[in-house]
Amino acid sequence: MTVGRYAPSPSGRMHLGNLCCCLLAWLSAKHQGGRVVLRIEDLDAMRCPRSFADLLEADLAWLGLSADEGGSAGGPAGPYYQSERADLYQYYYDRLAGMGLVYPCFCTRSQLHAASAPHRSDGQVVYPGTCRGLTPEQVAEKSRIRPPAWRVMVPDEEITFTDGHLGQYTENLAADCGDFIVRRADGGFAYQLAVVVDDALMGVTQVVRGADLLSSTPRQLWLYRTLGLPAPEFYHLPLLLAPDGRRLSKRDGDQSLEHLQAKYTPEQIIGKLAWVCGLTDTPDPCRPAELVDGFSWEKVPRQDICLPEGLF
Ligand code: GLU
Repeated sequence: MTVGRYAPSPSGRMHLGNLCCCLLAWLSAKHQGGRVVLRIEDLDAMRCPRSFADLLEADLAWLGLSADEGGSAGGPAGPYYQSERADLYQYYYDRLAGMGLVYPCFCTRSQLHAASAPHRSDGQVVYPGTCRGLTPEQVAEKSRIRPPAWRVMVPDEEITFTDGHLGQYTENLAADCGDFIVRRADGGFAYQLAVVVDDALMGVTQVVRGADLLSSTPRQLWLYRTLGLPAPEFYHLPLLLAPDGRRLSKRDGDQSLEHLQAKYTPEQIIGKLAWVCGLTDTPDPCRPAELVDGFSWEKVPRQDICLPEGLF
C-alpha cells in the first residue's frame, strides 16, 4: 500500500507553498488508495514549539487534509515528533560510526565560506574534506577549543535516481556535495539522517516535497543504502513563487494561512491551489476529496509556478 507523508517543520504558520505540498502529497497517496502519515520535523525544538505543530494539525483538518496516522494522534510507528526520536537517530548514527564513516569536523561556517571550495546551487559549500585526515592528537587539541560537528564520509560515486515528477537526477556525492553533517556540534542530529531513519521506520513509500530538496535526495539515497533501509519513491514539486517571482517564505505574512483563513473558505483555498497546480480548469472552490479520482502527476507543471497577481 502507498504510504505518503507530510513532514512539516512547524517554525511558523504554513504558507501556500507548504499547503501545495500537503495537497499534492495527500492526493498522490489517496489516488493510489494509500494513506498519509504526519511527522513533525521539530529537530530545532526552539524554533518549532509544540503550539505551532498543534496549529498546523488544526489547519490541515480545516482544509480537509488530515493525515491518517501520526502527529498528536500517534500510531504504530510513533512518536511522530522528531524531537522525541533521538534514541532512534542515535542507533543509526552509531551504525555509521561503527562502519568508520563518521569523523569530527571543527570548521566554522565562515571558514568554509572563506575557503575557495565550490558552492552548490543551493548556496551550500561543497565540503572540501578539511577535517577528514585529522590525527587523534589534533582532534583532542581542537576539542578543547570547541565541540565538533560530525560528518559522514561520502564515496566518489554518482547517485542517479528517477524522480516520479522531474525525471532523472544525478549527483556525484564527493564532487557535488562532499562529506555532510549527520550530527551537529550541539549534539542534535541533522535533518539528512533523521529524515531517512524516519521515513524508513514509518513505512513511507512515497515522498512528495518541494524541489528545493531535490539535491538532498542523492545523499539520502546513499544513507538508505548504507544503513540497509528501504528507500521510498520521490516526487519533487516545482516551487510556488509570489506574483513578483520571489520565493514564498513563512515571513510572507499575506500568503500565510493566518491571513488566508480570514479571507477565504477552505474550499476556496483548495480550489485556487488545485488550479495553479494544473489539476483543474478553473479556480472554483472544491474539496480535496473531489480531486482524488482525476489526480495525475502529468497535470502538474515541472517549472516553478508563479502565483497569478490577485489570485490570493
Ligand atoms: N521538514 C522539511 C520542510 O518543512 C521537509 C523535509 C522533507 O520533506 O524531506 O521543509
